[in-house]
Amino acid sequence: MTLNSTPLIGFIGLGHMGGHMSANLVRAGHRLLVHDLNAEAVQRLVDLGAERAESIAELAAACDVVITMLPGPPQVEAVIREMGPLLRPGSVWVDMSTSTPAAARVLDDLLSERDVSRLDAPVSGMAKGAASGMLQIFVGGETAVLERVRPLFEVMGDPERVLHVGGLGAGYTVKLMINQLWFSHLVAAAEVLTVGVKAGVDLEVLHRSLLASPAASSFLANDLPSIFADDYDESFAMKLACKDLGLSIDLGRDVGVPTPISAHVEQIYRTALAKYGPDSGEMIPVRLAEEYAGLLLRPAEAQETAA
Ligand code: NAD
Repeated sequence: MTLNSTPLIGFIGLGHMGGHMSANLVRAGHRLLVHDLNAEAVQRLVDLGAERAESIAELAAACDVVITMLPGPPQVEAVIREMGPLLRPGSVWVDMSTSTPAAARVLDDLLSERDVSRLDAPVSGMAKGAASGMLQIFVGGETAVLERVRPLFEVMGDPERVLHVGGLGAGYTVKLMINQLWFSHLVAAAEVLTVGVKAGVDLEVLHRSLLASPAASSFLANDLPSIFADDYDESFAMKLACKDLGLSIDLGRDVGVPTPISAHVEQIYRTALAKYGPDSGEMIPVRLAEEYAGLLLRPAEAQETAA
């Protein structure tokens, strides 16, 4: 099947990310049928012009393309088990969640009998990238299937950074490795900044020096500064960050590669989750380092002892 000029797009999972991504598709003129367990999230999309699906079954039976943007493997598996037998022959299921190949392939035999294609296409770029339609998208699956849905990716993401990274499952793997490295950057940066400031260097001078050095990173340049403004990024919840770290370590175990650094970073994240709660922001492990040092990484008050 080739998609006709006005395909109906199903979108399941309208949270911090999916809410913006689906809104951008509606604003770009696509016809959307949406579903979420959260009625308010659905209403926000209906107010923008999307149609409400009363059930996953209704959505699956009606749509040419179904996009899922769910918390993780248990939700992805539950949704595909429910909708898989009902997806239209010739349709495409695109899972953009940060998940694992195992959760997505539970119905592969059935999907292929029904001529349903699928892609894994997780994203990076945070909620701000979802809002601006400039996500990075890492696609696993067949080239021909990617080309059929590329126009949708180019609405949700930066067309220059819709990357085909391999066959089915490769998108999930790339995304887990990106997150693992990003969380590792965060933990390492929090440690050196708190030590350096505690030792008497001005925070901004230290930050500028790191950026001018071989130790510079995109994390230090683009992401860390939100801490200076007291923003630990609650648009990505710690429960999801810890889910990603667990999946990344599972992957290392599955392929037989030791991951001592990842395991340590995960423990720091889980300590922060236990202390600050599952809905605290993904950058809250910086607060742990701040507490250990007895200071806050704030330009004006970095030298002050935290209460
Ligand atoms: P979220 O928790 O804000 O949203 C998930 C949505 O899925 C919620 O609205 C929830 O009600 C809905 N949902 C859960 N189970 C459902 C079901 N069975 N049927 C229908 N709806 C269901 O999560 P998010 O922050 O939008 O993240 C979504 C995915 O994107 C996750 O896999 C996450 O790891 C990944 N991700 C998040 C960010 C970020 O910055 N938030 C960035 C990149 C990737």
